[in-house]
Amino acid sequence: MQVSDRVESVPPSGIRRFFELAEEMDDLISLGVGEPDFSAPWSARDAAIASLERGETSYTANRGKRELREAIAAHQSRKYGLEYDPDDEIIVTTGASEGLDLAMRALVDPGDTVAVAQPSYVSYVPGVKFAGGEPLPVPTRAEDEFKLTRAVLEDAGAQEADALVYCYPNNPTGATMTGEELREVAAFCREHDLIVLADEIYAALTYEHDHTSIATLPGMRERTVVFNGFSKAYAMTGLRLGYAMGPAEAIGAMNRVHQYTMLSAPTTAQHAALDALENCDDDVADMRDQYDRRRNFVLSRFAEMGIECFEASGAFYAFPECPADDSQAFAEELIQEKKVAVVPGDVFGAGGSGHLRVSYATGLDDLKTALNRIEEYIS
Ligand code: PMP
Repeated sequence: MQVSDRVESVPPSGIRRFFELAEEMDDLISLGVGEPDFSAPWSARDAAIASLERGETSYTANRGKRELREAIAAHQSRKYGLEYDPDDEIIVTTGASEGLDLAMRALVDPGDTVAVAQPSYVSYVPGVKFAGGEPLPVPTRAEDEFKLTRAVLEDAGAQEADALVYCYPNNPTGATMTGEELREVAAFCREHDLIVLADEIYAALTYEHDHTSIATLPGMRERTVVFNGFSKAYAMTGLRLGYAMGPAEAIGAMNRVHQYTMLSAPTTAQHAALDALENCDDDVADMRDQYDRRRNFVLSRFAEMGIECFEASGAFYAFPECPADDSQAFAEELIQEKKVAVVPGDVFGAGGSGHLRVSYATGLDDLKTALNRIEEYIS
């Protein structure tokens, strides 16, 4: 069977190879995966179970249950000062992943250029290509702590792009950006008329300062779509629930794709999500505190080992320099010889090479053992 050129142009995910190697091994500690080691809070799980017991197994409205959209609007207003109308400016999606895919398909025309801040989550570049657009890598720099700046945007030629996609708090670097720092990015996007796709899925996981959404900066709401979801903050990856917020024209266009492709996001998960927003602030705070303790531990261990690592301030990743020249080979040998999985930074695109992504969404005991093994290995 002939597959499409569009799909042929996208190689298989670079992370997958590491999971395959890792799966074959007993006693392996994985600092490789980008998902919480916690389960969803009980209250959210109970709400999902109760909805099943009531027999609520039908589709919901295309855009998601109205009650959930109202809760999302209230939550985003309270936490980040974002104001969106639950009727036509919010869509509930099957993970933030679906939201990103819908936005690419609804907002990118064939031949449009989408600047992608890198190193980045691995789905942006394929998403742009599936939509027929041209991805333009914008490599951020270790010396800027992997933040987006006007200089890196200009150096990459992003002034010619039609849109910019980025993620802060960042996967894979753990970098965050303050409101002040985002002003420069916002000004650039306004000057050069770029749409912004802001992936804020880690917004609840910041450790040094509160999260600011670029959509709250002057002149940005009308050119920004914000993505968020329940996978990270509420440890609900498997329930597949996220949402996107933006101007009515953008969300309406995304809903047009969604109503033909997905119909509606999972109903059971929508019940869990509604409960999560209403009742699970304390659970989120508790998980965040645990990540923060692990973050401090990981950063201090790298410092003890003499491995250069900037102070990651969000999400659940550290992004140290790789102590060897070839980070791919280093990561493969670390799995084989010491049974610890990390992901080489190259997988995340420009600016990532020479680094390793180390996820601390793993219990402290395993983290301690894994870091001891890394220390043994490099010495
Ligand atoms: N964006 C980023 C930056 C991510 O790290 C992930 C998950 N690894 C996603 C989006 C996808 O999240 P979801 O489970 O909501 O589809």
